[in-house]
Parts: sequence; structure tokens; C-alpha cells
Amino acid sequence: MKVKMILPALAEAESPFWRPIKYSLFPPLGLATLAAYLDPEDEIDLQDQHVERLRLDDEPDLVIIQVYITNAYRAYAIADHYRARGVYVCLGGLHVTSLPDEAAPHADSIFLGPGEETFPQFLKDFKVNQPRKRYSSSVRTLVGVPPIRRDLIKRERYLVPNSIVVTRGCPHHCNFCYKDAFFEGGKTFYTQQVDDALAEIDRLPGRHLYFLDDHLLGNAKFAAGLFEGMRGMKRVFQGAATIDSILRGNLIEQAAEAGLRSVFVGFETFSPENLRQSNKKQNLKRDYEAAVARLHSLGIMINGSFVFGLDDDDEDVFARTVDWGVHNGLTTATYHILTPYPGTQLYKDMRAAGRITTDDWDLYDTRHVVYATNKLAPEALKKGYDWAYREFYRWSNIAKACLTHETMKHQLKHFLYTGGWKKFEPVWNFLIKTQSLNRMLPLLEAILSKVRTSNSSPTAAKRALSSVTKTTYA
Ligand code: SF4
Repeated sequence: MKVKMILPALAEAESPFWRPIKYSLFPPLGLATLAAYLDPEDEIDLQDQHVERLRLDDEPDLVIIQVYITNAYRAYAIADHYRARGVYVCLGGLHVTSLPDEAAPHADSIFLGPGEETFPQFLKDFKVNQPRKRYSSSVRTLVGVPPIRRDLIKRERYLVPNSIVVTRGCPHHCNFCYKDAFFEGGKTFYTQQVDDALAEIDRLPGRHLYFLDDHLLGNAKFAAGLFEGMRGMKRVFQGAATIDSILRGNLIEQAAEAGLRSVFVGFETFSPENLRQSNKKQNLKRDYEAAVARLHSLGIMINGSFVFGLDDDDEDVFARTVDWGVHNGLTTATYHILTPYPGTQLYKDMRAAGRITTDDWDLYDTRHVVYATNKLAPEALKKGYDWAYREFYRWSNIAKACLTHETMKHQLKHFLYTGGWKKFEPVWNFLIKTQSLNRMLPLLEAILSKVRTSNSSPTAAKRALSSVTKTTYA
């Protein structure tokens, strides 16, 4: 059977602000995971429109398209095109799960929720010519999941081909997060077996790994087992964790020992009122600066995530957030305009309050204001968001943030990582054009090498927790 799997490009890919490198980081792991359920004899063509030109003149037996909110219209157009040619088309992903009735007219079958149970069931039905219109996931387990078909991934086109996911979902329930909608009807957080995760890591070449899990430390027992197994593997890795998990126990030290060198942290807001409204309980009464000090004492770089436009935000929020990030030595900052994704509690609340101002999904990219704001005017929110990005990544602020670290090596790593990420667009574009992005991996691995600070011991990390200026948000 000929199967075509497609990740259509996000709408942002046509924006003047599009940064090709941002969309050449990670391969389409979700599709490669589903591909593992196909027969080895099947002829599979996996195309990622972010890194290659889509060919649409073929006639496979089956087309599978992954739909996000800002590629939804493009995904539907591709689906319609293939259906007009008589090809059987399946749609799945976050947006299909949130709005199945919108997606259904463009597909022969749709998938709601994760595909580990539903996709193999569909394949059985398809083979006997009895596929259903709709498949909903209810059984949630990663036990026995076959190895991802990494052979289908064009590694040379990505900066981080070794991305990996060893859990699904997250134990928390922030009201703006897509996660609860996607995992509705079953467990919302589950993990691989530690041994399976370690075997998957073992199969990956080189040293660098990027864990794309929403919350790598979300299950302490699993994470401790994983980090224990990774000690001595000589890996360097990046991942995401919550402030709460960074401050609690000594899991973060175990992660650092195993090779964690940079972490994505959802600080989101400094306002307790905003945290409460967002149901982001895990950040309430947590000392943000203590978390930063602990990470830095372990030589872990920080990508801080912040949301602008929550109801308690006023015009000062932009300067306050940027200054805090610079003074606390964050390596990179990711800012978002609050976006009420369909399916989330936030969307339901805003819809009920008549606050949704557009259903043009192309604008749901966290760069546009799509709802009626509270204390901030929509124009001020958009302007402040743009300003925050410019300001945080000014050379003078990059230099200031670097100088917050105590060793030259840490300062240099910070400088190279931030500068490399934000200031050398033509170089990235050249590497993308010449399909030599992954030649940069040794450099990335060098930048992520271990920093020994005078505080880099578990006891010192605990000291860092008590010695920093306390700023507790609650
Ligand atoms: S902690 Fe992150 S992944 Fe988890 S629910 Fe909140 S926003 Fe979503």
C-alpha cells in the first residue's frame, strides 16, 4: 500500500516575520510514530512542508494529515485535493480533536486524541474495507508501542533530528493549554516504560537530545529512573519542566547529572491573580528567582515562557517581564499573546462571555490578539508584545544577561546560544538552503557542554535556594 503522511506548513510560514530556522528544528515525530504501525512493505512518503516542497500530483492509497490550528485551512485544502482524486484521507491532531465537526467534511476518517490505540484499529478496519468515520482514543498506554520510524525522517533538514518524546500530556490543567481537550476521555498524563525510553535514546546517534515532552519531570518516579539510566550515556539534552518540579526534591540535580543543559520553563506571569485565573496552580506561591538560581547553580540554561494579555496585565507588564528576564540571566525568552485555543476552558469561558473577536484560525498563532482584552487595549498588547521581543534580544540586554553568570564559560555559552539563535538569520538560511543544518550539531553540543560553577553541587544548589533575594508570586 502507498501511504502519504503530510505535515502542512503553519500559516506563519508565509508571514514576513517567518524565521525558517524556527520551523526547521524538529522533525514530524507524531507522524513517524504512527508510521510504525504500518506494514514494513508499505511504501511510505512522509513530507513536512516546513522543510520541503509538497508534491501533490501523486495518487497514494491513503493520505494522513496532521492538523494544527494555524495549518488547518491548508490541511483542509490538501485533504480536499486528494479526496477529489479519489484518495482515502485521514485527518488527526490537536485541531481535529478540538473541532471534529469542522474537520469531518474534509476527511474520510478523523482521529480524536492520541493515535496509539486508534490508528492501528483504523488500519485493521481499512484493510477489510470497513473504516469508520470517526475514531476516539480511550485507551492510553505507551506499553508495547513500536519504535518510531526514524528512517522516514530527512535528518539533514533539521537542526534537532534527535527530538524525542517519552511521556504524553501533563499532570497540570492550565486553562489556556490545549492538553486537556486533546486527552479528554482518558488519562491526561502517562509515560513510557523507563527501559523503552532508554532503548529509544540508545538508538539515536550523536550526543544531543531534545525532549519535546510537555513536562519531563511530571512523573518523579519515571524521571528519576530515566535520569539514573542516562548517567554515563554522555548525552547532553534539553527539555521542559515546571517551576514547582525544579524547586521540589532533588530531581533537577539528577537531571543535570544525566546531561540536562537547558530547560524550557513556563513562568507565564508574575501576577497571582493571573495565575489563579489560568488555573496555573503549580506556579502559585513559588519563588521564581529561587528556581532560576537553582538552575544556574547547576549550569542549566533557561528558556523562559511568558504570556501577555491575561486579565490582570496592564501597560507595565512588558517592561517588567523583559527586565526580570534580563536581570535573572534567562538565555532565551518566548513571549506569547494569550490565545484561547478552541477546546480549552479559556476558549469556552471567553466564548460564553462574548469575548472572542475572530474565528480566523490563521490568527491563532500567539502573535495576534483574537479576544476582547481587559486592562490593556488590543493595540497596546500587540505593540508591547513586539517591543518585548526586540528589547530582550538587543545586544546590550544579551550582554547584561550574560554577565549575571559567575564563570566566563557560562557567560560565553549564554552569549553563543542567544546570539546564535537570534542574530545570525542569514547563516541559518544558508544552512537550510544547502541542507546542512545538522552540521551545526557538534557546535550545539559544545555550547551545551557542562559548566562547572562554584555552586554546582546538590548542597550548593540547595544553598542557592535559600540565599537568593526572595520574590514569591502569590
Ligand atoms: S504546565 Fe504546561 S503543558 Fe501542563 S497544562 Fe500547563 S501549560 Fe499545559
